[in-house]
Amino acid sequence: MNIHEYQARRILAGLGLPVPRGEVAATPEQAREIAERLGVPTVVKAQVLVGGRGKAGGVKLAASPDDAAARARDILGMQIRGITVRQVLVSEAVDIASEIYLGIVLDRASRGVALMASAEGGVEIEEVARQSPDKVLRVAVDPFLGLADYQAREIGFGLGLEPGLVRDFVPIARGLYDAFVRCDASLAEINPLVVTTSGHLAAIDAKMVLDDNALPRHPELESLRDAAAENPDEARARAAGLSYVKLDGSIGCVVNGAGLAMATMDVVKLYGGEPANFLDIGGGARAERVAAALGILLSDPSVRVVLFNIFGGITRCDEVARGIVGTLRELATDLPIVVRLVGTNEAEGRRILAEAGLVAVADMDDAARGAVAALGGVPEGRP
Ligand code: GDP
Ligand code: MN
Repeated sequence: MNIHEYQARRILAGLGLPVPRGEVAATPEQAREIAERLGVPTVVKAQVLVGGRGKAGGVKLAASPDDAAARARDILGMQIRGITVRQVLVSEAVDIASEIYLGIVLDRASRGVALMASAEGGVEIEEVARQSPDKVLRVAVDPFLGLADYQAREIGFGLGLEPGLVRDFVPIARGLYDAFVRCDASLAEINPLVVTTSGHLAAIDAKMVLDDNALPRHPELESLRDAAAENPDEARARAAGLSYVKLDGSIGCVVNGAGLAMATMDVVKLYGGEPANFLDIGGGARAERVAAALGILLSDPSVRVVLFNIFGGITRCDEVARGIVGTLRELATDLPIVVRLVGTNEAEGRRILAEAGLVAVADMDDAARGAVAALGGVPEGRP
């Protein structure tokens, strides 16, 4: 689960990190009042659960309360990467001398947590990592000892900070690590952590991704969920009991089992396609869950081909077939649908599909190849 910048800032401020004061507004009038209360130049920031708000025009400086109201009027209602802005954060503006990236991430390769930092902050860290990997500093954190002072200090010096600022940097890095652990996060990021022109550090952006599987341990965090601001398809998928992650490609995949879903995405890529999503319908999915999955993919305009990859065990092929056929009866579509169906009740599943004019293949490679080949017949940006 993603939380908003203002929510993540609150968590970090609560742990003593230097976060500029700020409040959330839903109207230009409220933005004006907040700016008046703060009594200083402000920055008005779209609160949406996607990055790159600055580039999209969702972060604007305001010299006066009137100005803050005007900027809020510009930003509220704006669309950023398909999401409508409903709230803005009005925060004390700072004068920036330089911008640092600081993040605590899950490092699957080392099976641990890592602190990452770069003196090239402000921009997306993935971009920095691609173009100049040597500018990204990294340190593995021992899960039992936590982030040690010396490690944070080393990173601080590596960033080129003055000794005085290194001293201020250490508790910030440790505080961010603390937030990460306490909240069961999978990501905690300050981008940018800025050096102000007056020589202080300030965390002016904050991002946290919380591990959904740990939310039952944190009712206070679960209540931060902003369903209206989430990707509507992901919200719909969660409600239907599906694990779904939207991706950038054009082949929509419906698969039973997370491992098989990963393998399916790999095979799609192997044959030159790009998956439009990760989607796991789970074990023993009934027709309704299959229907929900297919419904989500058919309503996604970037999906040009649907690929089912079902390896029936607890999941029954006939149930899957019923889900597919039932959905197509309600949602007519011209999109090619490629089905790989093997395992429990396979023959019955094939019979149900055949009645509806669909043929299932037995081989995963054939299915992926077929899905990629079918792309040729479907134009991009279908209505
Ligand atoms: P993001 O684009 O979604 O990551 O939003 P950020 O909160 O990181 O803001 C984007 C950029 O706006 C930052 O990298 C800064 O350059 C700029 N910015 C944000 N807040 C301030 C501020 O208080 N003062 C100044 N001068 N620039 C700011
Ligand atoms: Mn940022």
